[in-house]
Amino acid sequence: MSEARILVIEDETPIRRFLKIAIESAGFTMIEADRGRIGIERAATEAPDLVLLDLGLPDMDGKSVIGAIREWSQVPILVLSVRDAETEKIAALDAGADDYVTKPFATGELLARLRALLRSRKAPAAERPLLSFGALAIDLAAHTVTVDGTEAKLTRKEFEVLALLARHAGRLVTHKQLLTTVWGPAHLEDSHYLRIAVGHIRDKIGDDAADPKFIVTEPGVGYRLLG
Ligand code: CA
Repeated sequence: MSEARILVIEDETPIRRFLKIAIESAGFTMIEADRGRIGIERAATEAPDLVLLDLGLPDMDGKSVIGAIREWSQVPILVLSVRDAETEKIAALDAGADDYVTKPFATGELLARLRALLRSRKAPAAERPLLSFGALAIDLAAHTVTVDGTEAKLTRKEFEVLALLARHAGRLVTHKQLLTTVWGPAHLEDSHYLRIAVGHIRDKIGDDAADPKFIVTEPGVGYRLLG
């Protein structure tokens, strides 16, 4: 992982400079682009291990950059967004970004997100039937969940929610992605289904929303299973 190459698409020179120091001091290599168009080209020609994308670019909407890259690549995309830009952030995740960091961000938080996404890329979860996260084990083939070896009896929908989070462990999964995948597109507005299901899952796997071991809530956005 130490040789991972990170493509940074960001128009502001001081932020790029700051990111370069943070990224290189963590042992990664940084490739730069100051425009969306150039970023898409570099994503294609340089095949980076991760893309760090600023949503506020002068030449293109960040969502269009994600859409263009997603036409051919599943490279993890971490977006940089400004505080209070909830709609923009959610749209970026729904367009195919994997997670976000809000500006101004702490270097430690940024590097933790980068590492989590790089890990999830190294071990494509969907290809393995048995996923484990500390004491929590999820068998995608047998549809069983255990905590410290004891089975947690989840309903079918609860299992599907947890399995979707597990397949994207370390990544943020939006309400829209969860609702449309587990309940279907007609239930996009039924966010209470999801809230109730996650509450039940937490009870059954012994997790605490206020101090999560497994499932983290991103208020108004979605959920992340700690990978
Ligand atoms: Ca910008």
